[in-house]
Amino acid sequence: MRVLPSQRRGTVDSQSLHFLYQYFLDLLFPPRCVECHSVGRSICGKCLPLIEWIGVPICGVCGQPLRKSVRHTCVDPRLLQWVRSAAVFSGPMRRAIHALKYSSDRNLASFLVDISYAHFATVTMEFDRIIPVPLGRIRERKRGYNQSVLLAEALSLKTRIPVDPKCLIRSRETKSQVGLSHDERKQNVDQAFSATSVADRKIILVDDVCTTGATLQSCAAALIEAGARSVSGWTLARAILPGMDLHSQLVGGKDDHQDSY
Ligand SMILES: [Zn+2]
Ligand SMILES: [Zn+2]
Repeated sequence: MRVLPSQRRGTVDSQSLHFLYQYFLDLLFPPRCVECHSVGRSICGKCLPLIEWIGVPICGVCGQPLRKSVRHTCVDPRLLQWVRSAAVFSGPMRRAIHALKYSSDRNLASFLVDISYAHFATVTMEFDRIIPVPLGRIRERKRGYNQSVLLAEALSLKTRIPVDPKCLIRSRETKSQVGLSHDERKQNVDQAFSATSVADRKIILVDDVCTTGATLQSCAAALIEAGARSVSGWTLARAILPGMDLHSQLVGGKDDHQDSY
């Protein structure tokens, strides 16, 4: 086993403790690939290339891939400086996010941050707070955790940017975004968040999946109102909305992503 830098100094910091914990956990309960179920890694070497990483051309504001077949919904740049997502919400990335959210596989958060960190590192690092998109109280109690908090903590361990999971809250329960049109999604999360203690902060919001950006935008509105200097957003994945007949495609079950739940 490799010697950690902090062990040479005789101290073990939180990142090293996390590394050790994960190391022994993997020895005791080796993970299985979410895609092909082989034992060894949460996404194995064969399935990793199936992830569709998002590169240029993208919209400079909302980060949406610019393709003819993709519906471009965009976000309000007065609220969100920009949004970026590491990969398309499909294949192993989609299965992994589902496992993180619905199968209590919390360790997937640090694995997914590890494999997408190169993408995160390409966006500016000039932030002083990482803030996860909050769940409603009822949903968080039911699930036992908020997957966005786990992702934000994993990013914080790598970047050393402090994470603050308490300054932004979902001030009213909202219904699932599944099956809602773009406008309905916007309406559903409108003024659903409130924030404190963010005056003059440069904030990066973190979530698992971005679909229309409505949730991130509503979070940003609350943070700006509370005095944040700037707000940007980063998500692991981006749900690609078909360019035509958006509503019927969503209702037809092609979008099983539950935005922020
Ligand atoms: Zn595999
Ligand atoms: Zn855009």
